[in-house]
Amino acid sequence: MGFDRFGTVSFVSQSKVDKFVDFLDEGKVMGTKCKSCGAKYFPPRNDCAQCLSSDVEWFELTGTGKLATYSKLMYAPSGFEKDLPYRICVVEYPDGVKAFGRISAAISDDDLAIGMDLVAVPIKLSGNQVAYEFRRP
Ligand SMILES: [Zn+2]
Repeated sequence: MGFDRFGTVSFVSQSKVDKFVDFLDEGKVMGTKCKSCGAKYFPPRNDCAQCLSSDVEWFELTGTGKLATYSKLMYAPSGFEKDLPYRICVVEYPDGVKAFGRISAAISDDDLAIGMDLVAVPIKLSGNQVAYEFRRP
């Protein structure tokens, strides 16, 4: 159990923040917030990159963010080849969170525009895999 069930963003599997997957099962996309300095991270981190504190708490990534940048991947890490090509992006939220993730296949390349509104949505993949993606609100 844990991050071996997380199907989209492989780098997250290196994290120790297993509860992230449990939250996705519950329909919540959660990041972490440093209790020491207030920095927010999505995907979640156990340790704050700003002040190195390990005293973090969860927050739910809700509301609408804006597409800051995106990239179309033609090459993927092992295990993700069948998903190609797909688009990854950074979405900026009003509270300063910069969230990283995949853009829904329901949005065509032509419809992607920097600054467009996006929301993070938990998704179920084949098998028992869970993930999240960014969709139109
Ligand atoms: Zn901190």
